[in-house]
Amino acid sequence: MKFQLEEFHRNVTDDDLIADLKHVANDLNKRSVTSREYNERGKFSAATLQLRFGSWLKALEKAGLQKTKDRNITEEELFEDLERTWIKLGRQPRFREMGKPLSKYSPQTYAYRFDTWQNALGKFVDYVNKEEQISSEEAIKNLEIEPSTRHKTKRTINWRLNYIVIRRDYFKCKACGRSPATDPSIILHVDHIKAWANGGETVLENLQTLCSKHNIGKSDLE
Ligand SMILES: [Zn+2]
Repeated sequence: MKFQLEEFHRNVTDDDLIADLKHVANDLNKRSVTSREYNERGKFSAATLQLRFGSWLKALEKAGLQKTKDRNITEEELFEDLERTWIKLGRQPRFREMGKPLSKYSPQTYAYRFDTWQNALGKFVDYVNKEEQISSEEAIKNLEIEPSTRHKTKRTINWRLNYIVIRRDYFKCKACGRSPATDPSIILHVDHIKAWANGGETVLENLQTLCSKHNIGKSDLE
């Protein structure tokens, strides 16, 4: 990443940046340029253009190039990646923190898909919060018990619920208080308080955050 370059390119005009982007497109003989391609061939960095124009898509638009999105990665995959990163940090990730080793996908990937990093965060939070409404004791109160499982909910804790529980528990193990934010060797798990096998449901009230050490031995009971 060449993020620091922004400081040195303060005097570069918008036109210079756009001209260089067009130049790279010409070089590649393509009607669009990805930020990775730009980082390899451009005079500046993709991050510089993003900061200047608001997003990579907007820079492409200004240059009269086609807007591209990486269609091989689904929104769901990006959200899961964001979830993992958020839990590792114990707080909302910043644009510049995204990418390896913390996250699988680069901040540019998020910016393509959602136009801006802020949009990506907003959509992620909206998506997760919907889960909160359907996975509480109150929400399942009137549901029928499924005869085959003798439960109202599934045993599996999806990643959204996983995130909501860990966030509620302040990104820490409920037993020892350790957190990946301060000790990267810690891995947090979400655990049924009343084991699912004993009739516990997969709802927020019956879930808690534990580290690997405190989760061991409990998993058999689930
Ligand atoms: Zn623990």
